[in-house]
Amino acid sequence: MVETQTVSRTKVERKGHEAYLVILEDWCKGCGFCVEFCPKQVLELSGKFNVKGYHPPYVKNPENCILCQLCELYCPEFAIYQESDDESLSKQECTL
Ligand code: SF4
Ligand code: SF4
Repeated sequence: MVETQTVSRTKVERKGHEAYLVILEDWCKGCGFCVEFCPKQVLELSGKFNVKGYHPPYVKNPENCILCQLCELYCPEFAIYQESDDESLSKQECTL
């Protein structure tokens, strides 16, 4: 049987750069680290349950996101990350 995965993908634009905040909802353990450590209050835990019975985050304020990747850095489950073809958004080079 093929397992399906609930994925949310939210477009974020910042100073001419474009990226997506990707949330693999079913990998989330609902710890809230991404919500707490986001410096711009972009994320919030949703009211819905994932397959494990946890509340995954959702992107509440995409216009506030500065593409800093802190949410990705702090997530212990690798459930949230930034996706972009823009090479200037790599961890080392991002100065947005
Ligand atoms: S990339 Fe930075 S600003 Fe955007 S949601 Fe993640 S922690 Fe918040
Ligand atoms: S840090 Fe990761 S595991 Fe924790 S709530 Fe955010 S997405 Fe879920």
